[in-house]
Amino acid sequence: MTVLVAGAGPAGSRLAERLAQAGIEVTLVERLLTPNQNAFSSAALPINSIAENLIPSESISTYWNGWQILGPDSTKYQWTSSNNLGVVLDFGKLREILWSKALDSGVEFLLGWTVKSVKTLSGFAEVELFGPNGASQKRKVKWVVDATGQSRSLINSKYESKPIGKDNIFRGSGIEWILQGDSQSSNHWGKQLTFFLGTRWISHGYGWIFPMSNDQLKVGVCRLPPNSTKPLFNNQIALNQLLKSQGLNNFKIIDRHGGMVASSIKRAEPHIFGRIIGVGDAVSTANLLGGEGIRFALLSAETLAPLLTEDLLSINQNIYNANSPLKNYKKILSKKLGWRWIVSNRLGKKTWWGLSGSKADERLLKLIKGLSEKVSAEEISALLFDYRFERYGIRILPYLFGLRG
Ligand SMILES: Cc1cc2nc3c(=O)[nH]c(=O)nc-3n(C[C@H](O)[C@H](O)[C@H](O)COP(=O)(O)OP(=O)(O)OC[C@H]3O[C@@H](n4cnc5c(N)ncnc54)[C@H](O)[C@@H]3O)c2cc1C
Repeated sequence: MTVLVAGAGPAGSRLAERLAQAGIEVTLVERLLTPNQNAFSSAALPINSIAENLIPSESISTYWNGWQILGPDSTKYQWTSSNNLGVVLDFGKLREILWSKALDSGVEFLLGWTVKSVKTLSGFAEVELFGPNGASQKRKVKWVVDATGQSRSLINSKYESKPIGKDNIFRGSGIEWILQGDSQSSNHWGKQLTFFLGTRWISHGYGWIFPMSNDQLKVGVCRLPPNSTKPLFNNQIALNQLLKSQGLNNFKIIDRHGGMVASSIKRAEPHIFGRIIGVGDAVSTANLLGGEGIRFALLSAETLAPLLTEDLLSINQNIYNANSPLKNYKKILSKKLGWRWIVSNRLGKKTWWGLSGSKADERLLKLIKGLSEKVSAEEISALLFDYRFERYGIRILPYLFGLRG
């Protein structure tokens, strides 16, 4: 009996590929029709995710080697390294490569199909699929994997707007445009990640300009306000203001996209529910300090693949296996993400919820100035990607950003 993976984002595609490589029959179902449709992710990653072979190098649009922050008072602060510190991916290209790797491994791929419902029955699941032109199908599979991203459409959907025990879903929404610049704009923005921080740019969030190949720029904003359960619609206003303030409003728009980011703070939610297993953003692997989730989605797929393979190849195939290696999935994944991931996610909540008003701006400015005097570009990367907070004092950062005190 097969596994059905719902959602062909980074997590679902990588998982399907790994399972097929291990000889498992896999069906991958994706509601989109093409990999470039709503390629919502700005896809900035640290350089070690390339070194660890998590990311296909063909999806890299450009390398970056520095950070730039335009603070609440519009002053520019820069940190540059002589080494590459990270990459910006072409997210559509990443999907395209992951999809073709899955297909090459023998995965059955249903594009333009949506998984509507899953019923857990004894030892298997019944799945209802809707396809193009009103087509529908029912399938019986041993496991369904929910790789539907932050919408977690199949697993835990009932937790969407409710606390999970003492945990809560923390969410935000972002929009991004890809602009066709020229050599002058490329020189101006350079090989660095630029962030716009402070209430004058956007409250409860941040704006960004990231470089891409062929003189293109990714320009976006993301807001993560307190107690938000719905998509936010005023991002467009903040984006327009940002584009105008930086003289970018006359460049040709190549693509407009956007999406939600959401994670529970402590990742306390069940990772397996009946015959449904969650992977990637569907089980809160995105870290919301920097809205970063691609490498963690891939990591969760790499973690789940061997456990699911072992379960499927075990002799008790047709009955529920109480000793299944899957029972350790959540624990193993949490260990791989590490305690720093949780601290960072908490810090993200405190930071973005607190970032509004002049007091918060003052604290933020103090923090940015402190970092600009004392810290190198590599150390900023270690702080934001490896969550090395110790040297700044874990308790101090949220005070500086403004939630407490
Ligand atoms: C504005 C924005 C900027 C971001 N920037 C970054 C960044 O710079 N760096 C970074 O690392 N991360 C970033 N992220 C987060 C990152 O994109 C996600 O964490 C990552 O894509 C999660 O991968 P996933 O496979 O779990 O889910 P997704 O990539 O969300 O994939 C889920 C897939 O499931 C499909 N699907 C959903 N429901 C169904 C269904 N019922 N049936 C069939 N298919 C379905 C969807 O169409 C989608 O293709 C950003 C996110 C946003 C919104």
